[in-house]
Amino acid sequence: MRSAVVLGGGMVGIGTALHLQSRGWSVSLVDRREPGQETSFGNAGIIQSEAVRPYAMPHDISGILDIAIGRTNDVHYGLLSLPYHLRPLLQYWWNSFPSRHQRISQAYAQIIARATLEHEPLIVAAGAGNLVRRAGFRVIHRQQAAFDKEAKEAEAINKAFGVKYKLLTARELGLAEPGLIDTGLGGLHWQEPWTISDPGALVTAYADLFTRHGGRLIRGDATTLAQTGSGWSVMSEAGRIDAEAVVVALGPWSPELLKRFGYSFPMVRKRGYHRHYSGGSPLDLPLRDAAFGYLMNPMAKGVRITTGAELAGPGAKLTPVQLAKAETAARELIDLGKPVEPEPWLGTRPCMPDMLPVLGAAARHKGLWLHFGHGHQGFTLGPATGRLLAEVMSGEAPSVDISAYRPERFRA
Ligand SMILES: Cc1cc2nc3c(=O)[nH]c(=O)nc-3n(C[C@H](O)[C@H](O)[C@H](O)COP(=O)(O)OP(=O)(O)OC[C@H]3O[C@@H](n4cnc5c(N)ncnc54)[C@H](O)[C@@H]3O)c2cc1C
Repeated sequence: MRSAVVLGGGMVGIGTALHLQSRGWSVSLVDRREPGQETSFGNAGIIQSEAVRPYAMPHDISGILDIAIGRTNDVHYGLLSLPYHLRPLLQYWWNSFPSRHQRISQAYAQIIARATLEHEPLIVAAGAGNLVRRAGFRVIHRQQAAFDKEAKEAEAINKAFGVKYKLLTARELGLAEPGLIDTGLGGLHWQEPWTISDPGALVTAYADLFTRHGGRLIRGDATTLAQTGSGWSVMSEAGRIDAEAVVVALGPWSPELLKRFGYSFPMVRKRGYHRHYSGGSPLDLPLRDAAFGYLMNPMAKGVRITTGAELAGPGAKLTPVQLAKAETAARELIDLGKPVEPEPWLGTRPCMPDMLPVLGAAARHKGLWLHFGHGHQGFTLGPATGRLLAEVMSGEAPSVDISAYRPERFRA
């Protein structure tokens, strides 16, 4: 029987472990914490079948200026941290040119299209249907120009990829969400995404499924990874684990580990915050407030507000200015109630400069497989790209062309 250690128990690691297991591999999943307690815990909980075009950086002067002078709440940056981000950000900007972004979107759309198809059997087998709603999410607009722009974009996405949406007048939005105090100019309903009431619990349910089918879930430290004569070893609470193959699925921590093996992967590290609020008016579906760059999702612990991207220095303390602005803006729309946690949660979206995940064999080490960099949609994509990696590792032809995701594109 072939053996693998998967490092990282987020949605990406679990998705990989389950697909390897179903192909007959003996799999140990190693994490320093319980599975699903990091980025896959704190996200906005949407399985984003509408996100066929990854977020590009603005190229127009006014879009760049909005970020530079802090006119938008979508992005926040610490000036002193910019040198740290400069190289990956320039690559990101280069890849955001319309012709390149269009090619990237084609490669992205083919995995996004498989996201719900791949989650569905896992949700059923894991008995996690109670965590899932299949009714999409809504967007509220307060500025006509932005509304027109998104409506145009939605129409183009619908034409190119068949993704369904519906425009909403202010009245229709008010009828759908009676708790709203202000319905702005109306908005838009993306009808196909699925929303999860507790993202960490979905990962836990998938991890339970993995162990029920004989997988080993072990606490251990990925930084102890070492190459051996016959494969790889890692130290864990259960002692040394040996396997012929290892998968690095450590989300934002992946590039750091790989440096030890001589690989240098650029990553745009976009921090994001969340906080829950309870005791206010109910919200039916998640609502993104386009003018203030945040999303409210009715979840198990209350309404979870998640913020846009923050660029900060390595190890920088919490600077939840976007969350503060989001909370003020949310209170104009709904009775939000009180914060549940004393401090907001902070995590990092692991974004590659070309907006595509890294998936495949490492260039210079036999049995070392890479699977990270899913950016804004790793919770959506983990099971879909997990299948692709398991197929390649098992010597099968991958279900879709994976050349756009190959690690060598970075000459790391
Ligand atoms: C605010 C916010 C909102 C988001 N909203 C969405 C959304 O709605 N939909 C969506 O699809 N995506 C969303 N994302 C993105 C998504 O959460 C991530 O892309 C995804 O969770 C990445 O999964 P992962 O498994 O690669 O990483 P993680 O979930 O971070 O997993 C990595 C694992 O590695 C482990 N680890 C790290 N270092 C070590 C070590 N040394 N030894 C052992 N284990 C280690 C960690 O404990 C962790 O469990 C959002 C992200 C943020 C921040």
